Amino acid sequence: MTPEPPVEDEPERCLVPGCGAPADRHLALAEARKAFPDLPEKGRRAPLCREHYRSWKKATKDARKLDRLARGP
Ligand SMILES: [Zn+2]
Repeated sequence: MTPEPPVEDEPERCLVPGCGAPADRHLALAEARKAFPDLPEKGRRAPLCREHYRSWKKATKDARKLDRLARGP
């Protein structure tokens, strides 16, 4: 059983166009755009639903790995 965080006053929707699922996570818009370049410019934070957060994590994980390799010792 994982404890749920307290619900915030306003439920937000996923910012990915055409999704509209309830947001599960919030990212900085710039961060979210690394995986979803067509996000609308609306504020500085990007609410993402669980599914899109997973896609984002996957996309940025690869990018981070490449970044680390590229930087080298
Ligand atoms: Zn979504």
